[in-house]
Amino acid sequence: MSIIATNLQAIRQRVASSAQAAGRDSGAVRLIAVSKTFPAEDVRAAMEAGQRAFGENYVQEALDKMALLRSGFDTPPEWHFIGPIQSNKTRQIAEHFDWVHSIDRLKIAQRLSEQRPAGLPPIKVCIQVNISREASKSGVLPEEAAALAHAVAALPNLRLRGLMAIPEPDNDPARQRAPFAALRALGEQLTHEGLDCRELSMGMSADLEAAIAEGATLVRVGTAIFGSRGPA
Ligand SMILES: *Cc1c(COP(=O)(O)O)cnc(C)c1O
Repeated sequence: MSIIATNLQAIRQRVASSAQAAGRDSGAVRLIAVSKTFPAEDVRAAMEAGQRAFGENYVQEALDKMALLRSGFDTPPEWHFIGPIQSNKTRQIAEHFDWVHSIDRLKIAQRLSEQRPAGLPPIKVCIQVNISREASKSGVLPEEAAALAHAVAALPNLRLRGLMAIPEPDNDPARQRAPFAALRALGEQLTHEGLDCRELSMGMSADLEAAIAEGATLVRVGTAIFGSRGPA
């Protein structure tokens, strides 16, 4: 068994036991394997171990991998864009990705909707929220999320599905839960306002247990599957 297959098995176990501890169905938590900086062969190894959803942050790198992985599998990979979005990259994202988790500006959302090719289903999107209110971080402030979510929900070729956050890192598991709880509460508020906000994209290698305890439905895991990425 490849190291990637072994790692995936361990992560699935972590997801299942965290879900069980929270009284949740482990089928309600989807694992997104974050393959940024890792080559197509590593994605293929994960696919051979049954993984289908992959997260990428860099458009050109992702497109190169997609081209190498187009054939050989009955069920094709599902691609999730999770990084900051520059306006000159929206067309390629609209043409090649199934999901975008990192919507934090209406202008970007409008471009993605306009540029989504006819014949493809709407892009599933999450609004990224700067839940820890960090200076110079991606994401809308919590108090701005509702206005953006309502505007995004009105765009024809996007389908609002929920919220995403990357909280400020905290090694103390007891403190990890608070920002995830805050994102969950915000999602519930938007659901009460009539939006489809049931997905919570939260939790990474170091904090997925805390995220699942607070209701994560999409966990984005890189290092624990593919290994460390080294200095950026
Ligand atoms: C890189 C990245 C991840 C994966 O983080 P790990 O700590 O390697 O699990 C998750 N989400 C986003 C947005 C990322 O950029």
